[in-house]
Amino acid sequence: MSAIENRIVISGAGLAGSLLAIMLARRGFEVTVYEKRLDMRTHDIPAGRSINLALAARGIRALEHAGVMERVRELLIPMPGRMLHPLGGEQHLQPYGSRPTEVNYSVSRADLNRALMNEAEATGKVRILFEHEVQDIDFATRTLKVRNTSTHDEFEDRGLPVLAADGAASPVRHAMARQLGIRHSEDILDHAYKELRIPPTESNGWRIEKNALHIWPRGGFMVIALPNLDGTFTCTLFLARQGEPSFESLQTPEALREFFNAQFPDLVPLLPDLEHDFFHNPLGILGTVRCEPWHHEDQAVLIGDAAHAVVPFHGQGMNAAFEDCIELDLLIEKHGRDWKTIFAEYSKARKPNGDAIAQMALENYVEMRDSVRDPAFHLRKQVEFELERRFPQRFIPRYSMVMFHPEIPYAEALARGERQQQLLRELTEGKTSLQEVDLSSAEAALARHGL
Ligand SMILES: Cc1cc2nc3c(=O)[nH]c(=O)nc-3n(C[C@H](O)[C@H](O)[C@H](O)COP(=O)(O)OP(=O)(O)OC[C@H]3O[C@@H](n4cnc5c(N)ncnc54)[C@H](O)[C@@H]3O)c2cc1C
Repeated sequence: MSAIENRIVISGAGLAGSLLAIMLARRGFEVTVYEKRLDMRTHDIPAGRSINLALAARGIRALEHAGVMERVRELLIPMPGRMLHPLGGEQHLQPYGSRPTEVNYSVSRADLNRALMNEAEATGKVRILFEHEVQDIDFATRTLKVRNTSTHDEFEDRGLPVLAADGAASPVRHAMARQLGIRHSEDILDHAYKELRIPPTESNGWRIEKNALHIWPRGGFMVIALPNLDGTFTCTLFLARQGEPSFESLQTPEALREFFNAQFPDLVPLLPDLEHDFFHNPLGILGTVRCEPWHHEDQAVLIGDAAHAVVPFHGQGMNAAFEDCIELDLLIEKHGRDWKTIFAEYSKARKPNGDAIAQMALENYVEMRDSVRDPAFHLRKQVEFELERRFPQRFIPRYSMVMFHPEIPYAEALARGERQQQLLRELTEGKTSLQEVDLSSAEAALARHGL
């Protein structure tokens, strides 16, 4: 095979692009990665859309598939559950799953991205060109247009296919929409987010429980906090962009203080830099990207947020992006360099799953900010875990399917989850405790609901 046939181009050295580069290098490709930012390993730049992330089983499976999990493990902080901080109530831990192994992990986006870039380059087959912005792709002439943002030189790369892992604003997706008329939408959520920092203790320890994802649910809005290895927590306030209360209404330090004192009194002492963080940190926009198809012939394919950016409330965007990488890698194993077949099969397999996780992520926002405060929700959770204990082959709660069961595709988790909700409503109607729920007829009820 010629060097040209063996060359492949990735747009974006973020989380998905870097992981995919490792997988392709292991298959013998010479990989060129264009990355528009500076190298975050040598420059102090923000790592991207959030300081840290929750890594779950799907992401871990992909890291294992690429042979880098052992390198990544040292970056992880286990989070076996959500620590709920009700207003005026006692904090309590709600386990994520029914088994001790059902754990999510907090990881720094920058640390993970740096580790993946290092692993990619260590293969000797990956060249990451920083400050190289992919600007456009011309499908008629099969050329990628790239600009070196430090020298301002522009050049063309005829080394298609291009694997576009260039994030939610993907220039490749925009080119597909413009030139090929693919179906394409970007739905911006009417809620946005702002990151705040809880500093470490004097001895560099954690000020609140380290091994948990903390949530201050308040109905229409919430704060969450994920631990970092340096003893800090990154808090994220999710709030409406307009209305009352909203980012628009919190314009002055006084308004901010009043809001936090009223809504998050136990959090205020943990946030000594609240005002500085709030008024200096950027406001993050959230949205859902949908498009179809995710590829064009043998020329380009979309991966990760470029194809399916989702709101972050299921903690699955990166996990889903990593799953895309496995799918592509396995199709390359199956079909060699037949890009047309590989891309078509990838798009067909992944698109329904992208749609399903987008929907579940939107639904989970309501669960996190609101339902977790409702006793009926807790009863349904208890019944879910009890059904899973009694019928482990037939009943796995939807949350667990998404987070801990990578063998179950998102689309199947969504479909089974809908049937589960009907069953749970039936079993818990008018009940306030697990003892009142009639589980003797549960097996028949499972069958009735096709579970
Ligand atoms: C607040 C928040 C919290 C989140 N929390 C979680 C979580 O807990 N768990 C989880 O799984 N997911 C989470 N996500 C989602 C996650 O951030 C994304 O799904 C993930 O980053 C997708 O990876 P990606 O590589 O596809 O895109 P990105 O990480 O966005 O990487 C894209 C890369 O492409 C580069 N690029 C962009 N344009 C160009 C161009 N024109 N030319 C060259 N390079 C370009 C960018 O610089 C970047 O390096 C969260 C997102 C947000 C906003």
